[in-house]
Formats: sequence, structure tokens, C-alpha cells
Amino acid sequence: MRISRIVPGVLVIALAACGYARPALTPTVAYLASPSPGISPTADPYTQSRKEMVVSQIQQRGVSAPDVLEAMNIVPRHLFVPTEYLSQAYADHPLPIGYGQTISQPYIVALMTEKIQVKRDDKVLEIGTGSGYQAAVLAQLSVEVYSVEIVPELARAADERLKQLGYAVAVKQGDGYLGWEEHAPFDAIIVTAAPDHVPQPLVKQLKDGGRLVIPVGPQGGFQTLWQFTRQGNDLKAIDLGGVLFVPLVRGK
Ligand code: SAH
Repeated sequence: MRISRIVPGVLVIALAACGYARPALTPTVAYLASPSPGISPTADPYTQSRKEMVVSQIQQRGVSAPDVLEAMNIVPRHLFVPTEYLSQAYADHPLPIGYGQTISQPYIVALMTEKIQVKRDDKVLEIGTGSGYQAAVLAQLSVEVYSVEIVPELARAADERLKQLGYAVAVKQGDGYLGWEEHAPFDAIIVTAAPDHVPQPLVKQLKDGGRLVIPVGPQGGFQTLWQFTRQGNDLKAIDLGGVLFVPLVRGK
């Protein structure tokens, strides 16, 4: 696979640096969730915080896809963060979810969701389920979501949480470097942990014309967020800017 074109993009600084708190992984569902593929925009105590997050952190930075903004307005992010971080659930930064991992900054979730350019009923693979928040945002867009998480406790907790909230997301514990062969090919793949190169199994599992949004770079430093589009055996690349994600670790 050859990278055919590099277009420089804007610099995005996403603070994904981790603080390592123990997780409180059983959130209470404080309102009624309707069945998947999405939940209704029912009011909850955080409705206003969520609206402000969407306007000031996301729209004002240039994310404009109406369906993405709507999903970010609906998905209850506070139910995906450990209870000790509830008051920061809608703040403009990532939060620890335990096991040295984080739930990404809301803006980065919105940006990556916009850049995979999905439409209803597309099949999407996420690598790095973490809290399940990004997967819920994707499910809210009525796409079919498959998500792989390497940390067994996180995979189990996210699976439970997503089910409890009514999101039909298939979660698997495993090494996402290898993708999820049985369900390939995918219309889009979104990777929320950073490898130091583009995993070839993911490229192989992408449909022709499909998008892969992935941070790539060295561990412990800034990475570049890329939007790749598969064109036959080539990848068209767009540089979306500098980001900081936790590393993609390999299974033993
Ligand atoms: N998308 C998540 C944030 C993920 S943080 C959310 O919305 O909350 C990155 C996640 O990638 C972590 O949970 C980490 O355990 C996971 N991860 C790291 N390497 C992985 C691998 N090889 N395969 C699958 N998941 C991996």
C-alpha cells in the first residue's frame, strides 16, 4: 500500500495525556434510554453543559457536520466517566478511565467522527473501545459499530455500559492491530490509540473508498492524526494535525 498524497492540515492539540485513577465503572442510568441505534435526546442534568460543549469546544473549532453535532449533543458523556470525574465530564480535555487509559477530549471525538464520513447503515470498526463513548457517538449516527479493546476489564465494562444505555455495539477484547477480520470489510475505521505505523491488517479490512482515521507517531510524543482514504491499492492521506494519544499496545 502506497501513500499517494499528503495535504498539510491545521494543527490540533489534543491533550490525551493520562492521569491514572481507578475507575468507577458502573454508572447509573438516570433517565430512560430507547433501543439502539440511538437514544432519544431526553433532558438530563447535563443537557446544558453538553450544549455548551458542542458550541464552544466543537462547532467553534470547525466541526460542522450536523449529524455529528447532534450525536455529541445527545450522547450522555457523563455516564462514560468515572464518578469522581463527573463534574469534569463536559470539560475540554480527556479524563482518566483507569488502567492508564483515557476517554478522549470531546473535540477529538467529534473531529474523528466527522472525518470518517459515515452515513446511516455503514459498517465501522473502532480500535480502542476505552469507556465506550466514541462507540456510542458512532452508534448514535445509526452505523453498525464493531469495537476492539485490549484491556479485558475495560472491554467488559464498556460492553455492559453500552448495552445498559441501549447502544447495539459489538465489543471484543483483543489486539486491535489485527482489526476484526470476520466483520470486514468496513466502510470506515477509527483508531483511538496511537501506533508508530499504519497497521496493514486495518488497511486490508477497509473497503475501497473507505476512510481510516488514525493517530500515528512515536510513543511518548505528539503524533499526527491522519485521514486515509483507500483508493484501490493506494492510500490518499490528509494530515489533520498534531495530537497526543495513548499508545496502541500489542497483544502478547
Ligand atoms: N475511544 C475511547 C478512548 C480510548 S483510549 C473512548 O471513547 O473512551 C485508547 C484505548 O485503546 C484504551 O482503552 C486502550 O486500552 C486501547 N488500546 C490500546 N492498544 C490497543 C490495541 N492494540 N487493541 C485494542 N485496544 C487498544
